[in-house]
Amino acid sequence: MVLERAAFPDGATVRNAGFACFGSPSELLHDLDKEGETVALQRAEERWHGLLELRAELGDEGIGYEATGGHEAFVTGDALYPPVAEGFERLNDMMRPITGTTTFCWADDLIEHLGLGGVDHLARTEFEGAIDSAKLIRSLMQKAQEEGVLIRGNADVARIASDASHVDLILRDGTVITTERVAVATNGFTPALMPELDVVPARGQVLLTAPIPALRLRGTFHMNEGFYYFRDCDGGILLGGARHLDVEGERTMQEGLTSLIQSDLERLLRDVILPGQEFSIANRWSGTMAFGSAGKTPLVERITDRVAVAVRLGGMGVAIGIRVARRAAALLDEA
Ligand SMILES: Cc1cc2nc3c(=O)[nH]c(=O)nc-3n(C[C@H](O)[C@H](O)[C@H](O)COP(=O)(O)OP(=O)(O)OC[C@H]3O[C@@H](n4cnc5c(N)ncnc54)[C@H](O)[C@@H]3O)c2cc1C
Repeated sequence: MVLERAAFPDGATVRNAGFACFGSPSELLHDLDKEGETVALQRAEERWHGLLELRAELGDEGIGYEATGGHEAFVTGDALYPPVAEGFERLNDMMRPITGTTTFCWADDLIEHLGLGGVDHLARTEFEGAIDSAKLIRSLMQKAQEEGVLIRGNADVARIASDASHVDLILRDGTVITTERVAVATNGFTPALMPELDVVPARGQVLLTAPIPALRLRGTFHMNEGFYYFRDCDGGILLGGARHLDVEGERTMQEGLTSLIQSDLERLLRDVILPGQEFSIANRWSGTMAFGSAGKTPLVERITDRVAVAVRLGGMGVAIGIRVARRAAALLDEA
């Protein structure tokens, strides 16, 4: 049985940007420098295999996967460009055992065709794409139900009490559900349930423009170590990020939008993504991610003999979610 506090799943999975990605060059090089080769490449490999497993499990149609190609854009004077240019071949060499081929190439000749403004350099990989988050959750729920899993909405777990023989889940309405084993997959909302764990919520804000006639941009795009991300979506542009402008303020489980971040995203639309083109914003929303205080490794472990946690999926849940889930299930099988 899956217990979901909302009527319908309402976490980051249905509010994300839908990038099926394993890391942009600047993000991967940053991780390599900060964490060393073993940790950084292990994570890239985890993301790579996770995407393949997700696509195999639910099918490309089931998740609305489109192999659009992924990009990283560097604006004029971007301080990230020189180190990325210098580390580019090193990165390709390190990624080759994972992807089996050259992963990234320079595609500056595409910049004009895509209609980008103030962008001097563009890195591209053929191996990234986009998914449709609504299709993914629908397929996942359908598959779970076909396998006999009950999904119970409006079941907000307030407390978990576990002893040697069983686990009690105490819902906010007072209902107690007794079971043998529990996997806690509350990600960014974990601090409300298990404040002792090192899980830091991180809000991500997103906007979606109305469809733009003759839109030239196609594919998924990152900038600034992944702090900005945008792609074409339903004929318009889906754009998110700018969390680095207010890291403290965005460490929250509350939904919400701020003018600081929304106006910066609109600036990026005007200056870089849709220069000289009219646009209007059709929708804005936020979602909650989860990080650790010291990095972005997911937390998958047994807390007691009968309770495991599978949380802290960062901005990579599309890619690593399925492997995190399988590891958590295996931990409980051992219990
Ligand atoms: C704006 C944004 C953009 C993102 N873009 C991308 C992207 O492009 N690519 C990518 O790979 N990742 C992206 N991510 C990250 C990705 O969405 C997450 O890593 C992933 O969805 C986490 O999945 P999850 O199932 O662990 O958590 P969630 O999807 O958040 O699910 C947790 C569920 O637990 C429920 N819940 C919480 N507390 C309780 C409780 N006490 N009782 C019962 N139920 C409870 C919630 O309602 C929710 O449905 C993005 C995230 C955000 C916010």
